[in-house]
Amino acid sequence: MKAPLHGKMMEVPLTVSSLLAHASRHFGTTEIVSKRIERDVHRYTYRDCEKRAKQLAQGLIALGVEAGDRVGTLAWNGYRHLEAYYGTTGFGAVCHTINPRLFPDQIAYIVNHADDRYVLFDITFAALVDVLAPQCPNVRGWIAMTDEAHMPRMSTAASSYEALLAQHDGDFEWPAIDERCASNLCYTSGTTGNPKGALYSHRSTVLHAYGASLPDAMGLSARDSVLPVVPMFHVNAWGIPHAAPLTGAKLVFPGKDLDGKSLYELIEAERITCTAGVPSVWLGLLRYVKENGVRFSTLDRVIVGGSALPPAMLRTFKDDFGVEAVHGWGMTEMSPLGTLSTLNCEQAQRSADEQRRLREKQGHVVYGVDMKTVGASGQALPWDGVTFGELYVRGPWIIDRYFRNDVSPLVDGWFPTGDVATIDNDGFMRIVDRSKDLIKSGGEWISSIDIENIAVAHPAVAEAACIACFHPKWTERPLLIVVKHPDLDLSRDDLLRFYEGKVVRWWIPDDVVFVDELPHTATGKLHKLKLRERFGDHILPPDQKVEQ
Ligand code: AMP
Repeated sequence: MKAPLHGKMMEVPLTVSSLLAHASRHFGTTEIVSKRIERDVHRYTYRDCEKRAKQLAQGLIALGVEAGDRVGTLAWNGYRHLEAYYGTTGFGAVCHTINPRLFPDQIAYIVNHADDRYVLFDITFAALVDVLAPQCPNVRGWIAMTDEAHMPRMSTAASSYEALLAQHDGDFEWPAIDERCASNLCYTSGTTGNPKGALYSHRSTVLHAYGASLPDAMGLSARDSVLPVVPMFHVNAWGIPHAAPLTGAKLVFPGKDLDGKSLYELIEAERITCTAGVPSVWLGLLRYVKENGVRFSTLDRVIVGGSALPPAMLRTFKDDFGVEAVHGWGMTEMSPLGTLSTLNCEQAQRSADEQRRLREKQGHVVYGVDMKTVGASGQALPWDGVTFGELYVRGPWIIDRYFRNDVSPLVDGWFPTGDVATIDNDGFMRIVDRSKDLIKSGGEWISSIDIENIAVAHPAVAEAACIACFHPKWTERPLLIVVKHPDLDLSRDDLLRFYEGKVVRWWIPDDVVFVDELPHTATGKLHKLKLRERFGDHILPPDQKVEQ
């Protein structure tokens, strides 16, 4: 065998710091705007950001943090959090973003499992830190992301972030780092069992940022003003804090106010062109713009993921506001981007209905991600848009192992996502359900997502969840749990009639329960486990005529 002929190209490592260094040099005056906890608006530039990230790196090194050590963050989307993203990873430490919406016991578990050296926190989380600190004895220090004047009163001996930065001048060269080294750590929300850590590398993070920026992904450019509403503590805000400096897009951070009015005002004031977040956030925004009869003057596209984008929401964005809702799918274990639903030339020539049907799906893969659906015996299923099976993925920004866990989650080199999906001959994937949320009625499957999507298309429905309920004959039957719009009337029978002609008869839920509020997980998804605990034994009306 002949020896392989290697290319003669430089081996420049793909490092996270290179993203900010690039933005600082080439888009040095491009703005980063943050709504602060203090409720004022903070503005500075990529150049300022890099300098302060370097000051933070110097500060952490002076505190004894070393390459490979984890530094936790408990923070909203804001410029100091961005500095933490780069001021830690830039010298080889690992930026561990912690979801503050989890239960304190779970957070303590995560901090201890990650073995965080320091934790940087927004002052809104001071009380939470007081609960956590006694449970996390290995954390050497808790650093409040504020100045001395705004230090909160706490039982924990916390120090000031600004005071730390003030001791350093930012005269610091980002060191060369092996691109395979860990850069960021993010735990899954762990609705079942303990949270598990996805430990990203510099290489995977930079490649993901490239992928996320592509025109048929988020399509970011130096002409964009991008608003990540998806939290920076949830899978690195889908990579936007990395993709924006890579492309030179202006970055706007919403802080902690994610209600419709606050978001609308920010979108208009900062001339946002692209934003990203979960459907529940857009419900609030759309309600606000409709109720107030206002329009978007610059918004071009909204990336919607984390949960299924209801078709009714896609239509409202497009037909009523001229805004493209781009459906995306991914997960923590995938950094998170997997698929997006944008159309190619030929697809864009098809009938309006056909285009809409494609856009409602979770979409095609981004280069770098490979996917397949598999059946019960592990065989690859056809891409016919009908046959569904578990979705498997692989690629350079998909986990190989969980952090500090030696058991490989892979099956023949593929990561099983736990999602059940179809793939059609356009290569468009559609999530049918989480495997554990599918409803098995008389041995046949019902997609809870499809049932929910139809419910939220009813004008009187604000939000809906569908779960399996025990049934003596069919084993499981769908139960719909609904939050009504406060000022609209809706009866159980009206809503069930709304399903007629939209699904086969046996998919129509057996009953509807109206509630004031639905529970959500720490990442904004419907908390199906809680709903099953509360309503799983709901007594279904006996007269239901199901014919399968
Ligand atoms: P997380 O790791 O918290 O981001 O959750 C990932 C899971 O969220 C996926 O495995 C899916 O079950 C779900 N998910 C993400 N995006 C979508 C989407 N567009 N449609 C349906 N489910 C989604």
